[in-house]
Amino acid sequence: MLIPVRCFTCGNLIADKYDDFQNKIKSGDEPDKVLDSLGVERYCCRRMLLTTVETIQQVIPFYEAIRRRNEEVQSELE
Ligand SMILES: [Zn+2]
Repeated sequence: MLIPVRCFTCGNLIADKYDDFQNKIKSGDEPDKVLDSLGVERYCCRRMLLTTVETIQQVIPFYEAIRRRNEEVQSELE
């Protein structure tokens, strides 16, 4: 889903660096150099940024379908 706020292992704050990281990666920079420039040095924190997969856009349609179905059920009950 979303990036965890803190590193699971050491508790270092990482969520505030995620947007910068994603923007620089999309512009073509090397991930290791971007992590160095953001000051993420421990490998536990680096893996958090490197391995997070944003799935929110894939999940949202299911919540919308559930909401629509709930509205249909409510209108049938009324
Ligand atoms: Zn860490």
